Amino acid sequence: MTVGTRVYDTLIVGTGFTGIGTAIKLTQAGVDDFVILERDDQVGGTWRDNTYPGAACDIPSLLYSFSFVANPTWSRAYSPAGEIRTHIEDMVDRFDLRRRIQFGVEVDGLEFDEAEGTWTVKTTGRKRFRARSVVLASGPLSDHRWPEIRGLESYEGHKIHSANWDHDYDFTGKRVAVIGTGASAVQIVPELVKKAGFVKVFQRTPGWVMPRLDVATPEVAQTAFAKVPAVQRVARQALYWGHEATATALVWNSPLTGLVKRLSKAHLHRQVKDPWLRRQLTPDFTPGCKRMLVSSDYYPALQRDNCKLIDWPIARISPVGIRTSDGIEHHLDAIVFATGYDVHLTGPPFPVTGVGGRSMAQEWSGGAQAYKSINAHGYPNLFIMTGPNSGPGHNSLLVFVEGQIDYAVAGITTILRNDLRFLDVRADVQQRHNEVLQKRLTKTTWMSGCNSWYLTADGFNASMYPGFATQYLRQMRDFRFTDYEAVARDAGSHRLRAVTSSA
Ligand code: NAP
Repeated sequence: MTVGTRVYDTLIVGTGFTGIGTAIKLTQAGVDDFVILERDDQVGGTWRDNTYPGAACDIPSLLYSFSFVANPTWSRAYSPAGEIRTHIEDMVDRFDLRRRIQFGVEVDGLEFDEAEGTWTVKTTGRKRFRARSVVLASGPLSDHRWPEIRGLESYEGHKIHSANWDHDYDFTGKRVAVIGTGASAVQIVPELVKKAGFVKVFQRTPGWVMPRLDVATPEVAQTAFAKVPAVQRVARQALYWGHEATATALVWNSPLTGLVKRLSKAHLHRQVKDPWLRRQLTPDFTPGCKRMLVSSDYYPALQRDNCKLIDWPIARISPVGIRTSDGIEHHLDAIVFATGYDVHLTGPPFPVTGVGGRSMAQEWSGGAQAYKSINAHGYPNLFIMTGPNSGPGHNSLLVFVEGQIDYAVAGITTILRNDLRFLDVRADVQQRHNEVLQKRLTKTTWMSGCNSWYLTADGFNASMYPGFATQYLRQMRDFRFTDYEAVARDAGSHRLRAVTSSA
């Protein structure tokens, strides 16, 4: 291993929306000495990895983008994944960030040196990096997961995961299974049925589906957005407040949750006439508890002659296909696993060693905890993006990410301007924050009894934010130096409670 002698002011891990957005804002704040590490050879994060047919964002593009990098040319209300990825590439070029990215460098450990006030960033290759601050922007859904189904390894046909699509495989005329009926599956199935000979969709839990009102962006709107950016800002605001309003139904169980149920059932009734299929597709959990699905072509796809919904539990995967618990062996040429991700609910997928050798994996094993989702006591100068309890159930993730970026930039500039060796959130502040958060979470739909990737095996919610995006943004705008212990670079070894700052 070679440890570079150079110490960067900041190191960013990941080149998805979050990493690139942070780099843009850091540059704008005058922080110029940073490097971005990317394990792949291209930027884009989840929008680079998810290339399955039908991949698109289920949040409107005007809202699923940064307010500080307007894109007036979105082709549709819900733009396809390829276009989102191109937009990320454009941001990189527009803000001249490519020269700062080191591609093919995969982080596999972070270690804080208290005496130096630097993070050592280990990688799977020979390189090591050092930086005064680290921004972890590698995302919670960056590693896909094969499900634990008996016999998976024995299958002799073609296996494809939704997050790692095999574009060389020709589905034409093939007998295909899709396992899973979540956000990815409802986008894949309508495309697969157009090509495959037969598609069997294996459902474990039906989800609530709302229609997707996807339209091409009229040229006149694109022109208006380009010529008068205020028009786009107003349209974004309208979408923002529209989504905010849905929190009253999706985050908390309220009479409005019942309305969502009725609207979703009406969508099902309108699109599915067969009462038995309707029954199979009717969920039995509170809307919002699992992620709402948004699709207008999923139900029609299921009713095509070459498609069938199977809701018998999967008993095992056999060499020739899938055996369900009713004893039927489904012979298949290919199985598509739309079964989700290895969600990093207990911290990053590599060791993070903080002050005094503490281990994040150990401390978070019972559930991750942070302050305002972004800093964790004992891990100074570390900014965890899309960290614990930062997930929205009703609004654009990027709205939340913008708040995190501003907060991280405030923290990093505080460290640099005050020449701090480190800035560590106080344990008591973090504990109080989490007590309030967990209390608020008990009243949310996510805790209403369904199974979801939002919760750990013990039912601890370390992923979702129990409130409006507006509340989250308000807390992220408020960077309080007094919430931290700070140590100046020339202050010997003892920690001082921070009382003053030039931030
Ligand atoms: P997911 O929501 O976790 O859904 C996985 C599906 O696979 C579920 O239907 C699950 O059933 C099923 N499943 C998992 N293991 C299984 C097993 N062993 N046997 C049978 N069925 C099994 O995964 P996803 O659809 O990939 O979506 C993950 C997240 O990615 C979403 O929640 C969202 O945040 C993000 N996403 C976003 C978009 C977008 O448009 N913005 C699109 C795709 C994904 P159960 O429900 O019974 O567990």
